[in-house]
Amino acid sequence: MITYNTGKIVAADKKYVWHPFTQMRDWADPDHEPVVLAAGKGAWLEDSYGRRYLDGNSSIWTNIHGHNHPRMNQAIRDQLDRVAHTSFLGFTNPLAVELAEHLVASVPQSGLSKVFFSDDGSTAIEVAIKMCVQYFQQNGKSEKVGFVAFENAYHGDTLGASSLGGISIFHDRFRSHQFPVTRISDLEQLKALDGRRTAGVVIEPLIQGAAGMRVWPGTILGELRSWCDQNDVLLIFDEVMTGFGRTGKMFAFEHEAAKPDFLALAKGLSGGYLPLGATLTTDRVYQGFLGRYDELRTFFYGHSYAGNALACAAALMNLQLFESERTLERLGPKIGRLSSQLAGFKNLANVRAVRQSGFIAGIELGKNDGTAFDWREQVGAKVCLRAREHGLLTRPILDVIVLMLPLCATEDEIDLAIEATKLAIAEGCRDLP
Ligand SMILES: *Cc1c(COP(=O)(O)O)cnc(C)c1O
Repeated sequence: MITYNTGKIVAADKKYVWHPFTQMRDWADPDHEPVVLAAGKGAWLEDSYGRRYLDGNSSIWTNIHGHNHPRMNQAIRDQLDRVAHTSFLGFTNPLAVELAEHLVASVPQSGLSKVFFSDDGSTAIEVAIKMCVQYFQQNGKSEKVGFVAFENAYHGDTLGASSLGGISIFHDRFRSHQFPVTRISDLEQLKALDGRRTAGVVIEPLIQGAAGMRVWPGTILGELRSWCDQNDVLLIFDEVMTGFGRTGKMFAFEHEAAKPDFLALAKGLSGGYLPLGATLTTDRVYQGFLGRYDELRTFFYGHSYAGNALACAAALMNLQLFESERTLERLGPKIGRLSSQLAGFKNLANVRAVRQSGFIAGIELGKNDGTAFDWREQVGAKVCLRAREHGLLTRPILDVIVLMLPLCATEDEIDLAIEATKLAIAEGCRDLP
């Protein structure tokens, strides 16, 4: 067993590193003791002291079949022995091709037939945005430049993807540098819009993740599709979070059998092992970019690590494991278990709302009079700190506690996560109104 000098790692971290979505003054405070994650197995993570925790948010919504999965590891190792990375600009590789074929096969009857690889969720969205704009530019509708997105949406942090975002504390600061987007909160507002200047509409199907796990009421994808058809607008489904079984089906849009023009995938795409993004689109969009080279209809866009062989090997094994481990079939009863356990939260003190979509849960905390806590109190963060002491790692979205275990978690592990969350809420909210 490897031993770690935790004090030294933490000191160097505080000296040299800047963490994402983190107030570094709090992080660097001498009293703050970061968890140094050093190993993992299945739904469990292990820190530098050998303490074990359930991975309550699937390592920021990425992990699918568990950590250190022997077949995931082997697939990556096998590829590593051949080559780690080669250029996808002007060349191809067997793994990326096989993955593209498997991805298209995993969305039958969707009309999606082409795969464009990139690095992560944000770039998968950037690709969809740019393809939308360029498609209309060179297909006789250059007035179509606008985008429609939903309030509270989250589509990534790069400047283009964040233009589509509707979470004010993340996105508003950069509005002067983002492209304008029409933000709507429901379909009535959509129907009132003039679609003639609109290129694309983007939505997180079934559930908005970063908004605090907000489940859409009713069925809206079909109606979105028909509005897009009537107005010749391209429809983007952002399944960066919901893809790969999280909602109980392989992709969230399958619940409504709606057809997008673009499907953005990342996070779980590689099973949570390596960064990888993919944007799937239709033959219609693809055809709209064909032409003589000097017509300049080429999609001049790409990233250095596009089609990365190690990431593609991981993603292929991720898909194979869905088959060989019957992941979705075995997930059904686990989702049932999670639902019945979540029912027990509804009457707990300081629980404002409990939301679930498939294997994703959000528990919103608040005052017992039903109002929200002041976000400055960071109650959600304090509760997650208590959960850590009960063997559960997760990260809140403001005061929403996220429970999103890897799909491999057993019913016993679900129970443990639930128990830890209950204790953490009771302790973390003890002296609160
Ligand atoms: C996480 C997320 C993204 C951004 O993905 P990154 O890999 O973090 O860039 C985009 N859309 C949704 C719905 C997400 O949850």
